Amino acid sequence: MLTFDTDIRYLKGVGEKRALVLGRLGIDTIGALLYYFPRDYADFSHIQQIFDCMDGERVCVKGKIVTDISEHKIRKNMTLYRFKITDGTGYLNITIFNNKYLAAKLNVGSTYVFSGKIEQGYNTFNMSSPEIREENDTGLHPIYPLTKGVTQANLQKLVLTAIKSVDITEDVLPFSVRKNYKLTDFSEAIYNVHFPKSKEVLEAAKRRFVFEELFILRTCLCLMKGKKKKSAPKIDFSSLGCFFSLLPFSLTSAQQKVINECRRDMESGKSMNRLVEGDVGSGKTAVAAALMFCAAKSGYQSALMAPTEILAEQHYNFFNSLFCNSNINVCLLTGAVTPAKKRKIKEKLGIGEIDILIGTHAIITEDTAFSNIALVITDEQHRFGVAQRGALSNKGEGVHTLVMSATPIPRTMGLIIYGDLDISILDEYPKGRGSIKTYIIGSDKRERAFGFIKKLINEGRQGYIVCPMVEENEQSGLASAEEYYEKLLKCDFKNYKVGLLHGKMKAAKKDEIMADFKNKKIDLLVCTTVIEVGIDVPNAAVLMIENAERFGLSQLHQLRGRIGRGKHESYCILVSDSKGAKERLEVIRSTRDGFTIADCDLKMRGPGDFLGNRQHGLPELKIADLYADGDAMRMASMAAAALLETDPKLKSDECAALRRRVIDLYKSFTEN
Ligand code: ADP
Ligand code: MG
Repeated sequence: MLTFDTDIRYLKGVGEKRALVLGRLGIDTIGALLYYFPRDYADFSHIQQIFDCMDGERVCVKGKIVTDISEHKIRKNMTLYRFKITDGTGYLNITIFNNKYLAAKLNVGSTYVFSGKIEQGYNTFNMSSPEIREENDTGLHPIYPLTKGVTQANLQKLVLTAIKSVDITEDVLPFSVRKNYKLTDFSEAIYNVHFPKSKEVLEAAKRRFVFEELFILRTCLCLMKGKKKKSAPKIDFSSLGCFFSLLPFSLTSAQQKVINECRRDMESGKSMNRLVEGDVGSGKTAVAAALMFCAAKSGYQSALMAPTEILAEQHYNFFNSLFCNSNINVCLLTGAVTPAKKRKIKEKLGIGEIDILIGTHAIITEDTAFSNIALVITDEQHRFGVAQRGALSNKGEGVHTLVMSATPIPRTMGLIIYGDLDISILDEYPKGRGSIKTYIIGSDKRERAFGFIKKLINEGRQGYIVCPMVEENEQSGLASAEEYYEKLLKCDFKNYKVGLLHGKMKAAKKDEIMADFKNKKIDLLVCTTVIEVGIDVPNAAVLMIENAERFGLSQLHQLRGRIGRGKHESYCILVSDSKGAKERLEVIRSTRDGFTIADCDLKMRGPGDFLGNRQHGLPELKIADLYADGDAMRMASMAAAALLETDPKLKSDECAALRRRVIDLYKSFTEN
């Protein structure tokens, strides 16, 4: 008996040659063929009259061939076959390309069903390369993505052979799951997804396979999460009250809730693996500080990693001022630190003289050895790859890991990317924040916007202007930060203190500029997206973004998060002349809710593009669509959790097939 894992070569009707062709479609096993689902279905059940056809429409018509089938050799390797059909309401010209075999099979005077796209010519209707069926052969027909050397008919036949030659009664979805979620059995669904008798059974089959894909994924991630829990130091939180008294503000209830969730993990003796998801400005740093304080008071070291030097510096300043009177040693390690100083820092780390280390990637890429690290926190997690997340927690066996992310990702997606973590949500802003008004303007209104910014500066506020690039770029016509800065200095803002900040500057220069901005020595900061994450200057109340259409929605949301951090009313001005970007920018204007924005972003861009690249570790989903199948994702998650509750190791017979698939998937995660 053949199985799902059998090489496709051994399927009846497939030899070496065809196996190669199928390989190009990604079909290497019989299982892969069964899961090679149609991209669409030709619907031969709704016959339309030719009279009613419209240009560009995909239709199905039934007609008699009323002319001879003429052959036209238009060039080497290209022969057309043409004929006319009628259904009594009108005529349709049919063209077939290169398919001599098909043309020879058709009989003049006989009636067939033709499915394809209508093209209107001068006084005629045409249809090219239609799917053609016998008169009575109606219903849904699969359309597979093809490659040279294989036809729809070939694939249909092979799929049918495959279904007949393997055991399709074993189901990856345990019976209880199928029953609870009313899912079609595999044996039925696999037939119906390829050869549906009706739209209803097709929908049911698709629903099952979407569920199946998400269910296997979630089961795998849940198991990975369980595996991660190792024994880790117990942290004593009795000094938490002491930490509260150091803070210049009182925590929001959301912050307290999240700290408590972490506390439960860190007191347990098992390692914490948690994500704190909180929108820009929700106060994640204070949560990190609380945990690091308690770790230090319990005699352990901790590390905080930020994606940029500017941000690391900012965190360092905050922690330093917070802990200056509490004999906790805070230290900064970034790429900008001189080699001699680095050595010194590492020495001190090794003998436990440093309690809290703050830094950039440098912390993990270099051979930094801690003496007794118990807690590792990554800020702005989405900026780091999954690999780095792993590397940092390898710094110590069984350390507590916390990752913080400001870019809310759609919940469904979070369940996958962070599926191996517990999640805490900071869903509240500190009180007393001013609101943010967002405007979209054309570049013709820029002068007026400058006037408005000056007025705010005169009132004592500060502001940012974000440009896409550093150097002059004439061809693209984009405003570059450098050029822009020069211009503002000379003309519009010559009586104001304007600064320039971009990623290509030396670290020391960046620090200096940031410090000047914080200390109000700079009123208006012209910058690139270096300020995108984390920067916290509560007095900044206006943010203008040039060529706003160039930025992604989540990026715009992050940038806007730089203002509205103090008690003042704040203003975000998006400058764009692009008509195409209107809809996207409107999303930003209409809401400040990061989750809503992330959802729109996902919907507009699709999951592949959503986080910029694939380093986020999101596996490619074949069938499920994260946006459209959000409900299925939630159900599959519940089902996976419930199943693992009763059968944590998938040992029961009904889980046998599932177990195999989960192991395969797990391997694919750990191999990359
Ligand atoms: P993010 O979640 O974006 O990292 P931060 O931690 O930078 O936010 O906090 C944003 C600002 O809010 C900072 O100036 C911080 O000091 C302040 N802040 C944080 N928590 C509170 C609070 N509970 N009450 C008042 N201000 C707070
Ligand atoms: Mg932050």
